Amino acid sequence: MPGAADDILHTLSVCGLESDEQPLLYQSQRTEAYEAAFEQIRSQNLVYPCSCSRRDTAAGPYAGTCRQGSHGPAPWAWRMRMPDAGTCCFTDGFLGPQAFAWASLGDPVVRRRDELHAYQLAVVVDDMAQGITDIVRGADLLDATAWQLEIRHRLGGAAVRHAHLPLVLGPDGRKLSKSASAEAISRSPPGAALQAALVALHQSPPEALHTLPIPRILDWALENFGKR
Ligand SMILES: [Zn+2]
Repeated sequence: MPGAADDILHTLSVCGLESDEQPLLYQSQRTEAYEAAFEQIRSQNLVYPCSCSRRDTAAGPYAGTCRQGSHGPAPWAWRMRMPDAGTCCFTDGFLGPQAFAWASLGDPVVRRRDELHAYQLAVVVDDMAQGITDIVRGADLLDATAWQLEIRHRLGGAAVRHAHLPLVLGPDGRKLSKSASAEAISRSPPGAALQAALVALHQSPPEALHTLPIPRILDWALENFGKR
């Protein structure tokens, strides 16, 4: 929706959360970089065409139906081969040690049937291009981290740390999201939004924290985050 991105950036700004890199990177302008990364893994024979429908793959991890070149006619999605066996282990900065069996994940789509590059590839290419060292995001993306670590490894990316934070859920138990028409964060006053966010992230801010100037609230969060 036109203006939606600027609105989000403005909300971050009034909450004192400024980007330390300018100009901002927009995925819609990054197609060449994604295509170059795709070609890099394709030249290593790490991707294969997949003609399975969404219905074929809806239940559980992708079973590898097209892995041996037995795909049907185009248009195809392209999937990346993950290790055949074993476990992906990493230590999450918020959730602690994690282990995902590759068999439980299947091979992810890296280039979609409509020729758009999938999130799993795009986010790794962008993080590498910006030199991101610490990736902090919602716990709904926890299992995709294994895929992204493998993609990053294959693209020659440096090691990276992850922290997955609790999701804010609506009364129906589902995560709040733009696509489900969740209300935007109220910017007035932003201190109240930051206080509510800290509580949602399982922190225990002092009751009057929200009345302090925004930089003081963020200082408190930096100092106390994760301490129980
Ligand atoms: Zn397939």
